[in-house]
Amino acid sequence: MPVRALRWAFLGLLCAGAVSAAERPATPAPAPLPAAAAAPAEPADSYPVATDAALTGDDTRTRFVVALSRKIEVHAFTLADPYRVVLDVPQVTFRLPPSAGDSGRGLVKAFRFGLVMQGGSRLVLDVAKPVRIDEVSVTDAAAGAPARLILDLVPTDRESYLRKIAIDDKLVHAAPPRRAEPPADGGIPLVALDPGHGGIDTGTKAPNGEQEKDIVLDFAQRLRERIEKGGKYRVMMTRTDDTYVPLAERVRMARNAGASLFVSIHADSLPRKEGDAQGATVYTLSEKASDPEAEQLAEQENRSDVIAGVDLKTEPDDVAGILIDLAQRETKTFSMQFAQRVLTDMKSVTRLHRNPLKSAGFRVLRAPDVPSVLVELGYVSNKQDLKSLLSDTWRDRTADAIAQAIGGYFATHVAGPRTGAN
Ligand code: ZN
Repeated sequence: MPVRALRWAFLGLLCAGAVSAAERPATPAPAPLPAAAAAPAEPADSYPVATDAALTGDDTRTRFVVALSRKIEVHAFTLADPYRVVLDVPQVTFRLPPSAGDSGRGLVKAFRFGLVMQGGSRLVLDVAKPVRIDEVSVTDAAAGAPARLILDLVPTDRESYLRKIAIDDKLVHAAPPRRAEPPADGGIPLVALDPGHGGIDTGTKAPNGEQEKDIVLDFAQRLRERIEKGGKYRVMMTRTDDTYVPLAERVRMARNAGASLFVSIHADSLPRKEGDAQGATVYTLSEKASDPEAEQLAEQENRSDVIAGVDLKTEPDDVAGILIDLAQRETKTFSMQFAQRVLTDMKSVTRLHRNPLKSAGFRVLRAPDVPSVLVELGYVSNKQDLKSLLSDTWRDRTADAIAQAIGGYFATHVAGPRTGAN
């Protein structure tokens, strides 16, 4: 199921940012390429490798060049609010310096790169102002020189920028209809575990380079084992590898599979200038944030789609329209009861934030009919928390506590799967 869902998600991403005729390559990516005579020898099953990425020029013309082991296809398009240029390519192995993309030059403020699905990678450039893609091409490797992806950007005005996107949008094809998943089997409740971030979206980073996306994936896998151990509950994961999944897609996956509970796993950080904070926090959904810090965190977590180059305007938020109804009210109550249970069980094994139960407008908690919480395990910016987050013992102990809370929650609620499709 996840594979198909991801595939649709990615097709959705591609459709959301269709390429204009001028920018569309002659053949659609990721079609297999004929072996270029001059390309370095590579095993047939390996991915092309990006070995360098550089920005040159100034804010009248900025060139972005990526050195590659062989020629690949590229789809380029732009997104507004914030202004971004997105390059979709077949799966690439990135061997770039760790700091690549952290700083910009000319029209480009920064860039990111990574996997968005099996078989597909993406580069996202944050641009300082509206730009026009003057050229995008990939040259062959030749005479010992690598293949090169070249992107030339020139400034334009906002009106032209938006008009261009509107024209591109006309080429968008409707996403294929979703097939309903089979109903949850055997009456065994299904728990959706959602490790935050992934692929191109690394989440927060610890001073020692540890990334949130890796910490939370490992934690979620440990939690999964514990939940499934007794045979009383089933688990579905929104991701099981280092792949990016859009926020709304995570919600859709859980609802389509008939999940009875949704647990999103994250780790927080605080910029040094804002002091120090530590401990775990559990969040539920609210339109109005419980405090300014919670609001800021939700904004930061909701940026996941911006980071990955998703067009927020066209990303279907199919749950927004049905937010306010009775089911929602019941879901809210259940979410709150579950959140309190998680905190009670976590308290005995780990440090909690001084104000550990909060709420804000997290996009990933918006399923109207699946009780949902987001657990921030701790702060990677805090020395003690980071030590815990990286410790196997701590991860096991804390996963045990959350699994116990899940058992306790189901024991006091009707433990059947949700009835009725979405
Ligand atoms: Zn996060």
